[in-house]
Amino acid sequence: MQQNRPPLPPEIARRRTFAIIAHPDAGKTTLTEKFLLFGGAIQMAGQVRAKGEARRTKSDFIKMEQDRGISVSASAMSFDFREYRFNLVDTPGHSDFSEDTYRTLTAVDAAVMVIDGAKGVESQTRKLFEVCRLRDLPILTFCNKMDREARDTFEIIDEIQENLAIDVSPASWPIGSGRDFLGCYDILNDRLELMDRADRNRVAETISINGLDDPKLEQHIPAEALSRLREELEMARELLPALDRDSLLNGSMTPIWFGSAINSFGVKELMDGIAKFGPEPQPQPTAAREVFPDEDAVTGVVFKVQANMDPKHRDRVAFVRLASGHFTRGMKLNHVRSKKAMTISSPVLFLAADRELAEEAWAGDIIGIPNHGQLRIGDALTEGEALRFTGIPSFAPELLQGVRAGDPLKAKHLEKALLQFAEEGAAKVFKPMIGSGYIVGVVGPLQFDVLASRIEQEYSLPVRFEPSQFSSARWVQGPKAEMDKFMAVNKGHIAQDSDGDTVFLTRLQWDIDRITRDYPELKLTATKEMM
Ligand code: GDP
Repeated sequence: MQQNRPPLPPEIARRRTFAIIAHPDAGKTTLTEKFLLFGGAIQMAGQVRAKGEARRTKSDFIKMEQDRGISVSASAMSFDFREYRFNLVDTPGHSDFSEDTYRTLTAVDAAVMVIDGAKGVESQTRKLFEVCRLRDLPILTFCNKMDREARDTFEIIDEIQENLAIDVSPASWPIGSGRDFLGCYDILNDRLELMDRADRNRVAETISINGLDDPKLEQHIPAEALSRLREELEMARELLPALDRDSLLNGSMTPIWFGSAINSFGVKELMDGIAKFGPEPQPQPTAAREVFPDEDAVTGVVFKVQANMDPKHRDRVAFVRLASGHFTRGMKLNHVRSKKAMTISSPVLFLAADRELAEEAWAGDIIGIPNHGQLRIGDALTEGEALRFTGIPSFAPELLQGVRAGDPLKAKHLEKALLQFAEEGAAKVFKPMIGSGYIVGVVGPLQFDVLASRIEQEYSLPVRFEPSQFSSARWVQGPKAEMDKFMAVNKGHIAQDSDGDTVFLTRLQWDIDRITRDYPELKLTATKEMM
């Protein structure tokens, strides 16, 4: 948080950069669609539908990976809402792509957590929440599908509080549920929001209310539902904390809105909440210092690389989160890793379905930079300073397989393809010290299929994945003498990753424990920072 610093300039202060986290099927795609609709970015709901990832089959996934354009334009979306600029960064829905998700979450200042009112906190929600928590990311909660039979409101709130160890403050309160769902009482603004079931894209009718005794309530809510609402709100006031922005911003409290994304209900209130209470662009950590968004010099960090958007050209788009400054098109920036200057002549902004040249961008914005492979995940762009942004994790893969080119003469080709995917962050590639060939590591099994298909498509190279004798990988670091001793004895288990770092491969946790015990000076880790 920016304590004791002057307020941000208005252009930066109006930016809200966030991601949506949800268990598949909770309604992330539907909510995104409504955000864009209310943000004026699309004319009709339904356009984003094709991008929903959760229920896709394997072949859909491969098809989608081939259809690079779609997943790219869904990766970051910018739109205006009232006087705010929202940057919504997409997190891949499928758990197989969770590593990408984790990295995405380093590029945002807040997350919207969508839960299904009937299901509550589900496994993927919890996993993603934990990642947000690592960074104390502020979280705003949307409890979706209130038009269906939902759980008791207190029960939902209790579950979040207990399961995720975060205070929950109701921003709205549902009136009835399922077929009897009428709408919500807007606690923050003392208003009644009534859902229109007839027109799904219509914004709810809003009625200002003067406290819970206002007779206007009786005109709109049947007596029984009204007495229940009064009782529940009374209890909520006693038992649950009021919204406190500082607690939201430090990640210890989440406000919750109830609604139905598909009925466009509650979405605007949520957007208002993001605008009013959500964080401005936050300082970004680097090895040497924090970078503040209002610094004059432009700085940014690559958090995602998407390759071959156009299969005919081997171009890639690096997604950069601007950490500071005011960027204008044509700027010359220093690529810190290679120490070379890059002129950013055709940066793109993603306005819903369209890509547009970004004439300018501010701290907090996400721009796409087309390039031919110079830009990698973790790379910094600055106006000169040799910054190294920290906190972008790389995870040890949980599944390992050997890979061979269908045609043995194409081994070099395969190597090139694999290194490209490694740079893109799509897989870990290990070259064993002994023997030929490569071992590829991923987090989820679908990634092998996607990789095989992409190598075949983009490099005209049929490949075979085959079982590997290893199932875990750990990065190893330590003093040279100890490393040498360790490597000499464990040759059959040692490999190098695509950055040249040493990796220990094994099938047994026991092995990892043994090494930790026998070589106390070595550090075995399951994550490393990308750089
Ligand atoms: P995602 O997997 O999280 O992206 O979820 P989707 O947005 O694709 O939604 C999953 C399913 O729930 C779809 O069939 C949606 O039409 C449906 N859905 C989304 N929001 C609502 C809602 O508010 N009410 C109801 N009844 N269904 C919804």
